[in-house]
Amino acid sequence: MINHYNAPMQKSHPIGRFAPSPTGPLHFGSLLAAVGSWLQARSRDGQWLLRIEDLDPPRVMVGADSAILRSLEAFGLYWDGAVVYQSARQEAYQAALEQLIDAGAAYGCLCTRKQIQARGRPGPAGVIYPGTCRAGLSPGKSARSWRVDSRGARIAFEDAIQGPQQADLEAEIGDFAIRRADGLFAYHLALVVDDAASGVTEVVRGQDLLACTPPQIHLQHLLGLPSPEYAHLPLAMNRHGTKLSKQTFAKALDDADPGPQLAQALGFLGHPPPAGLHGAPVAELLDWARNTWSLERIPRLAGMLSPTGE
Ligand code: GLU
Repeated sequence: MINHYNAPMQKSHPIGRFAPSPTGPLHFGSLLAAVGSWLQARSRDGQWLLRIEDLDPPRVMVGADSAILRSLEAFGLYWDGAVVYQSARQEAYQAALEQLIDAGAAYGCLCTRKQIQARGRPGPAGVIYPGTCRAGLSPGKSARSWRVDSRGARIAFEDAIQGPQQADLEAEIGDFAIRRADGLFAYHLALVVDDAASGVTEVVRGQDLLACTPPQIHLQHLLGLPSPEYAHLPLAMNRHGTKLSKQTFAKALDDADPGPQLAQALGFLGHPPPAGLHGAPVAELLDWARNTWSLERIPRLAGMLSPTGE
């Protein structure tokens, strides 16, 4: 079965969002996702929502959420409505898990990481689960994790920047976990439930998340949720060819002097501000960008050297 995804390219009232994980302050790479998603929504009079993805307590850095909010304000990237925290959304994720179990689309799994490593085969996104527990658990055993059945799922979609995409989930990713053995709900499930609950119509984010899109579309289909439009932005890479991230110690944004960093981000995304805007406040830069914004001007590349010299 091929699930073709063909959302209309223009929506009259788009709803976009920025969904940072509060593992540290924002850096130039995260600014690109914030600016790109903000402009894509605001250039069409859409809403822009903010969700803090604090799903994984050990990875959360205390105070990072408020630092992120302060940076967005310093850069003029104001959001609509209340900030959603994933840590407060457990009931919604549990309800989605139950819906999938009831529909026979998810199953309990007893396998340990070691067993999966030993029996699974390597895939582009890590070891592919060999399907050991698909047939059901023997009586009296309780599941360590919950997985979604990927058999026969072929996902095709059009990325508004990266072009047509397709994936054979069973061959490339396998039956992925939606509730992990440590009891935490997995990123794909939480994200799909939250985007749908907020009425998100477009997901603009970094190209590193392109491979996450097919499993997320699969979950939307299984849960009967609409699929948003997708646009994956090029990534900012450091001199060593690795993407800027908290793990590679990317510099935090400087909230005291946002203009030059915003101008660099706009240039990176194919919208360099004209010389007359040199030194302009962020509100003016954003106004100009909002009127000029076009996804067609964004380089269709996976990654490019960051202009911040990291
Ligand atoms: N929380 C994810 C991250 O910070 C982003 C998720 C998304 O935008 O879909 O990498």
